[in-house]
Amino acid sequence: MSNSIYPPSLSSTASSQSIDYGFDSEHIWHPYTSMTHALPVYGVVSARDCELTLDDGRTLIDGTSSWWACVHGYSHPVILAAMQQQLTQLSHVMFGGITHQPAIEVSKLLVEMTSPNLTKVFFADSGSIAVEVAIKMALQYWQGQASNSKNKLMTVKRGYHGDTFAAMSVCDPEGGMHTMFGQNVTQQIFIDAPSTAFADRELTETDTMALEKAFATYHQDVAAVIIEPIMQGAGGMRFYAPAYLQKLRQLCDKYQVLLILDEIATGFGRTGKLFAYQHANITADILCLGKALTGGYISLAATLCSDEVAKGISQSPAGVFMHGPTFMANPLACAAAQASLNLIKQNQWQQQVSQIETQLTSELANAITLPQVKDVRVLGAVGVIEMHQQVDTASLQQAFVNLGVWIRPFSNLIYIMPPYTISSCQLTQLTQAMKTVAKNINANNRNINFISHG
Ligand SMILES: *Cc1c(COP(=O)(O)O)cnc(C)c1O
Repeated sequence: MSNSIYPPSLSSTASSQSIDYGFDSEHIWHPYTSMTHALPVYGVVSARDCELTLDDGRTLIDGTSSWWACVHGYSHPVILAAMQQQLTQLSHVMFGGITHQPAIEVSKLLVEMTSPNLTKVFFADSGSIAVEVAIKMALQYWQGQASNSKNKLMTVKRGYHGDTFAAMSVCDPEGGMHTMFGQNVTQQIFIDAPSTAFADRELTETDTMALEKAFATYHQDVAAVIIEPIMQGAGGMRFYAPAYLQKLRQLCDKYQVLLILDEIATGFGRTGKLFAYQHANITADILCLGKALTGGYISLAATLCSDEVAKGISQSPAGVFMHGPTFMANPLACAAAQASLNLIKQNQWQQQVSQIETQLTSELANAITLPQVKDVRVLGAVGVIEMHQQVDTASLQQAFVNLGVWIRPFSNLIYIMPPYTISSCQLTQLTQAMKTVAKNINANNRNINFISHG
């Protein structure tokens, strides 16, 4: 694919920058790391389109979209221009008692792109906070209905909704951090993870029974069900059937339970639909968006809700919605989101994601013949090789860097979620690397025998 959208003036001049690795390992936390057993980190000095440039001048093809956010690639001139313009005009202003056009424009786009019933927008700073806000909305809604008994969340196992405490309470109870924090994590109600495969039209008997029983037993205590539609992301990269969401929607309506859909990972095209819930032709009462909302340029998230939910909250004893972060609706982030959403609206993502899906399907298929591999699955711009055993993230990551790609496995999963703008040649390098690394994992233990060149 041509790089013609990038003017020559944007080319990287950054490889002269040096990285103080010593200070980093001594003083800076990275996600889920120890301060006594530092793991290797790679210094990135610039990024453009689908490539990261390291401090030593090497470039890596990015298979992660920086944790699934950077869908248009890095340094996209349209997003850069929008942010530069906004930066000189109004980088930040408080949102209490003040409004600004960037927030209004993003809200217009979100209301227009999502289902017609989702009309109200709350801006949050990150995905976890968008989930906190959604949970608080559901609880306040039922307070407004004088149903104080409805104060639990119901969800499925193997989910992931973020790292803050309310979000943690609805993450997978085993993979998540429930036992570690004991009573500080609210006890919620868990149903087994969906077992019906994405391609299956009919729900398995197991899923039907589990759902019906859970609703019949607990509905009086349940304010809302929260779930990642179609794809359970950080909890295991598992895809499940649209029929599951349809059944959930029916039961939520029947038993008067709100439905919160967490589209933070799946929103904006990743699974082949603009929103994953569209695979099932349903809608949410409350919808969480984040990650790709700004095209991955700056942190911003949003929680949308229906008129009905908004009215209920406004009639609750508090009379107002009890949330308001300092950096709510940051104008610079809104400008990035507006530019990114306008790119999404041009609809190129549809063809890009479908081409990525076709190519991933054909190139990853033969990985299933490797003895180390348990399953291979693809949906939209998501390609997953599931191994029989847990992998060592740090050593695999190094192997990937040596192969010129940036892929970060976790648990027993080697997966990619590349930017939609990736070329077919770059994508082939990613799938080749995935298979090479999977093949070189020693089946008998967690160490890998790996070709080391550098
Ligand atoms: C990443 C993610 C979150 C948390 O978002 P942060 O921005 O990391 O707080 C919540 N839900 C889902 C489905 C996610 O993938």
